Amino acid sequence: MTNELFTADLEVRLRSAEANFLLRRYKTEINAGRPATVAMLDRDIMRVYGPHLVVLEMTAEGEFAFLYSGATVPDDKGSALSAKTTDKIDAGTAGLYRLGCSEANTANDAVCINHQSGLDSSVHRWECLFLPMEDSDHKRMFVALCMPREMKHEFLRVMLDALPNAAMIATPIRDSHNEIIDASIIAANARAVEFTEHSSLHGLMTTTLCHAFGDATMSSGWDRHMTVLRSGKPQTFDYHHRGENASRWFHVHSAPVRDGIQISMTDITEMKRAFLELEHQKKVLMDEMEQRRGLEQELWALAHLDPLTGLPNRRAFRDAALLKLAEAQTAHRPCAIITIDIDHFKRVNDAYGHGAGDTVLRRVADIIKAPLRPNTDIGARMGGEEFTVLLPDTDTEAAIAFAEKLRRRIEQTVVVVGENEIRPTISLGVALNRKSTDLDDLIDRADRALYTAKRTGRNKVATEIDVQASPSKTAAA
Ligand code: GH3
Ligand code: MG
Ligand code: MG
Repeated sequence: MTNELFTADLEVRLRSAEANFLLRRYKTEINAGRPATVAMLDRDIMRVYGPHLVVLEMTAEGEFAFLYSGATVPDDKGSALSAKTTDKIDAGTAGLYRLGCSEANTANDAVCINHQSGLDSSVHRWECLFLPMEDSDHKRMFVALCMPREMKHEFLRVMLDALPNAAMIATPIRDSHNEIIDASIIAANARAVEFTEHSSLHGLMTTTLCHAFGDATMSSGWDRHMTVLRSGKPQTFDYHHRGENASRWFHVHSAPVRDGIQISMTDITEMKRAFLELEHQKKVLMDEMEQRRGLEQELWALAHLDPLTGLPNRRAFRDAALLKLAEAQTAHRPCAIITIDIDHFKRVNDAYGHGAGDTVLRRVADIIKAPLRPNTDIGARMGGEEFTVLLPDTDTEAAIAFAEKLRRRIEQTVVVVGENEIRPTISLGVALNRKSTDLDDLIDRADRALYTAKRTGRNKVATEIDVQASPSKTAAA
């Protein structure tokens, strides 16, 4: 409830034709040097303006008494003002008349107030022209013309239609068993007409919820609204509307109000599109990452694995073996190394071709690989037809047994290449970490044992003891 008072340029600022006319009549009297008396309110004026007029006089207590009030000028509660005084009516209305009359009295001229009503009034804003006059006894009187500027329902309609969301109210339709079978749309704003793809508000208001939401694409929406109507519990959901004109996404809130439901819909198409685009980008990124991971694995394999046998290469063996040796040293545990070389392999190549040699290499590698303990033992192709195996937690005896097993398995192997049967054998040298934990030294000692095995007949396992027992010069072939 606010009052906006203005005292100058009334001719320009008054909106209503009625107030302008009355002001002109008033000014004519004044400008002619005649006192403005209530007699000015002749029958013609009263006939047209009477319903909007209020006549007041000041009381001895300094309040204002309503001598007359037109039918359309009630107080905020809707009751007539006639025969009341400003101290006996609601504060908002009293404030308007006190301000208007005292300002007109002080100025001894017309003033105007734009008055905003309280919540109970159906009028949103009034334009009130206050004219100081006198009666035939020269007693001070005030005449006010109160014209409604905006009605509250018009204002609400403007507000509802300006909303970015669709708003609707629907009340239930019941069958003869009192079951809710549908709902009538009894109120809707402009956005509701647009979102439900109706051509007019009238079109939407003369349909039921089932027709507005019940077609194939909207059916999920209708089910939800029916559930809210029946259960009295609100629901919030998103749905995809494939309309005739466009495909849209809505965020919908359906909530009980009085005996029906209030539905509000927000268009989230842009947001949903952005979200779907983001999901797509995420998938592209994941695919790219997956591809990159694959490439990295390939690169790793290229750097660490021997492409012919799939065994770790010399470099990968060194990295892993250094770690295992360090662990064995810390734990004071034995760790064995076996170096392996295929016997007379050059002859295989020479006799059956390089391809046959490769087949033999692969087969030998598979046999070496088979008994290795995963994550513990390391087998590698060191180059050419030479392999190395590192066995943590393995003493000389166990290492010899392991080497013997490999030797025997390969001895028993027949590699068939075309029409040829190739029977490879291997020589093996065993060394243990006890004397030194240096990897190169350990390999070197195993190699010397291997050399002894070669020198003493091949297809054999030899250890460092064999090296000492069979000095190279006297060793038998
Ligand atoms: P020894 O019993 O003394 O070890 O005799 P050997 O013939 O096995 O030894 P040598 O070192 O004379 O020959 C090894 C041969 O291995 C020579 C080389 O051509 C062959 N070789 C090395 N790498 C490959 C390979 O990847 N594929 C094939 N098919 N042959 C290879
Ligand atoms: Mg060799
Ligand atoms: Mg060889």
